Amino acid sequence: MRAVDIIAAKRDGLPLSKEQINWFVQSYAQELLPDYQAAAFLMAVYLRGMNREETVHLTAALVNSGDQLDLSDITDYAVDKHSSGGVGDKTSLVVLPLVAAMGIPVAKMSGRGLGFTGGTLDKMESIRGFNVNLTPEQFRDQAKRIGLVLAGQTKDLAPADGKLYALRDVTGTVSSLPLIASSIMSKKIASGTKGIVLDVKVGAGAFMKNLDDARELARIMVGIGTDSGRDVIAVVSDMNQPLGRMVGNAMEIKEAIATLKSAGPHDFRTHCLEIAKHMVMLAGRGKKWIDEKRVEAELIHMLNNGQAFHKFRDMVLAQGGNVDMVDDVTLLPAAPVTHMVKADREGYISRMAADIIGMAAMRLGAGRAEKGQPINHAVGLELHVKVGDKVTNATPLLTVHAQDVEGVAPCLKELRPAIEYSDDPVEPLPLHYGVIREGN
Ligand code: URA
Repeated sequence: MRAVDIIAAKRDGLPLSKEQINWFVQSYAQELLPDYQAAAFLMAVYLRGMNREETVHLTAALVNSGDQLDLSDITDYAVDKHSSGGVGDKTSLVVLPLVAAMGIPVAKMSGRGLGFTGGTLDKMESIRGFNVNLTPEQFRDQAKRIGLVLAGQTKDLAPADGKLYALRDVTGTVSSLPLIASSIMSKKIASGTKGIVLDVKVGAGAFMKNLDDARELARIMVGIGTDSGRDVIAVVSDMNQPLGRMVGNAMEIKEAIATLKSAGPHDFRTHCLEIAKHMVMLAGRGKKWIDEKRVEAELIHMLNNGQAFHKFRDMVLAQGGNVDMVDDVTLLPAAPVTHMVKADREGYISRMAADIIGMAAMRLGAGRAEKGQPINHAVGLELHVKVGDKVTNATPLLTVHAQDVEGVAPCLKELRPAIEYSDDPVEPLPLHYGVIREGN
């Protein structure tokens, strides 16, 4: 085979065969093809798209470029979740221990934050000593022992995806639905999971800005999963405003712990219960958990009786984290300076722009503009209102948690366009825009 023929076929809009796709991906992964040919291939895919079979073959090729985790001695049906990323999205911190508390083992590999999007690993590292760099043996052993483990992805899982993603980043080819879908699904499939719940975010603070694109991405991923022998459900969820009230690493840990103790903001708790419900129902296919109402009731019970919180605590202990910080969240890193912003008029909140809020939190130090930068776990933004809330003059809108006084003024300036008011009542934003399964 010749790379140029494959590139030209895609350029002309012809579907590629399994053999062509696999040959191209493996050759590039093994450094037998130069970046310029891979870049041309990516651009051809970006412009011409891929059909369902091609996305399935591309995903399989990415999976085959590295190791695959075998979790079959831990559970006969591993479940996982994946969020396409957002602002204040700390869902994994609650959902994983909650599902594990139901007796369903959860072994998850997560990522770090970039730009306005937070990362689960960064959040967990707010807890002093928490180790996200586990060997495959440690990862599997902990999953077996306590039924819950959360670590960084090993380099050996779908390595071709990492290489291609870096090239996409510099060739304007990131935002291609088949490339995004196969990239995400390759990592999920390589991590040994059978049932996957996808949390596909849509809105200002998400990868997908409009509902049609989000639904299409969800459909492609569900198709890839189904044709790869996995059960996949995608929940399309709102990311026009941040999820919950806290944006910032230690602040989000506090909010997650409150939610695990059956408190926490209503929107965040409801979203966690939705994602957890689908995970439990997938894991219980044909077995115990088939009744939706019963699953919901049991999940709420696990929050109320403390078992979900205790699973989280067990995980922190097992991974070397300081559990005193979990038991007493006032010991978590806290910003030295806080500054509350109040409404200066009456009305209804009509916009809380997640992207602007996420970027402002990043510039405070909570996130990173470029890979590898250090972050400040203590700083962030605390939101006191949501879209649809009625405010009067002097209602608290948000609190900036900053490292120093100098950080506050630029942050306030950046946040100014994030919040808008309306004189007329505004409907709260929906949390979810539906569930996508194979065939719907
Ligand atoms: N996340 C991924 O893992 N890959 C993409 O292409 C986009 C988001």
